[in-house]
Amino acid sequence: MTTFDTGERTALVTGGASGIGLATVHALASDGWKIVVADRDVKETVKADLGKAHPGRIRFAQVDVTDEHAVGALMAETEAGFGPIRGIVCSAGIGRDTPFFDTTADMFRQIHEINVIGTFLVTQAGARIMAASGGGAIVNLASISGMRGNIGRAAYGASKGAIINLTQVMAVELAPYHIRVNAIAPGPVETPLAAAVHTPEIREGWSKTVPQRRYGQPEEIASTIAFLLDENRSSYVTGQTLAADGVFTAGGLIG
Ligand code: NAD
Repeated sequence: MTTFDTGERTALVTGGASGIGLATVHALASDGWKIVVADRDVKETVKADLGKAHPGRIRFAQVDVTDEHAVGALMAETEAGFGPIRGIVCSAGIGRDTPFFDTTADMFRQIHEINVIGTFLVTQAGARIMAASGGGAIVNLASISGMRGNIGRAAYGASKGAIINLTQVMAVELAPYHIRVNAIAPGPVETPLAAAVHTPEIREGWSKTVPQRRYGQPEEIASTIAFLLDENRSSYVTGQTLAADGVFTAGGLIG
């Protein structure tokens, strides 16, 4: 049962300056949320575009999600400027494709530092505020690489698998505080990250193994995140990882 006013809503979107996070900011603003875009690299063009599209609804914070003190300050500033935080989307993340034997401990640490520890720091600090003010919802960005043994994804896939389990534990422990926690596991999505990481061979591989025979668009992931964040639409859904992947994980033999 909802314990807070769902009319006046503030969300924090990490990685909100690019790709899936940016599309999510647009989707949430259209749904009436006020949003803080928290990203380590917010370009002036992105600021201008978002400000124009959603006047008065967006604030920007340049923050590295692995910096515990900066994350704490971000939560306090968000609450002071925009009121209680009711939604958090953790889209800040990095990826790379490296064969298992070539994966170094440093690569593994860097990916886990941002994808896992960054998500942990942001959601723990944000959930404390939500718990004290009646509840809210969190959506973490996992990946189908956290559900399957995709080639070259030893470090990245392990980080996303960790996010899936973190999501489950948080959902259980935070249910008494009226906080729902879900994850979304996208398949390949056309974003700057995919453009940087996916070689022509990888693109061909995805086009053969995704039954819908295409990459997803950031907007298709964003609308699903908006659903999971919305107390009025998904109030009994928590602890889940929803694959948005053109049937990849449900598939078997495909023609
Ligand atoms: P993207 O590179 O377009 O956007 C990621 C954003 O995160 C960038 O704006 C970047 O500046 C920010 N960021 C990175 N490290 C940060 C840090 N330490 N602190 C603050 N901000 C930081 O990538 P995307 O494709 O939109 O990916 C978003 C999320 O979705 C990631 O977690 C990614 O793993 C996940 N994902 C992407 C795909 C895909 O195919 N694109 C598939 C599955 C999952």
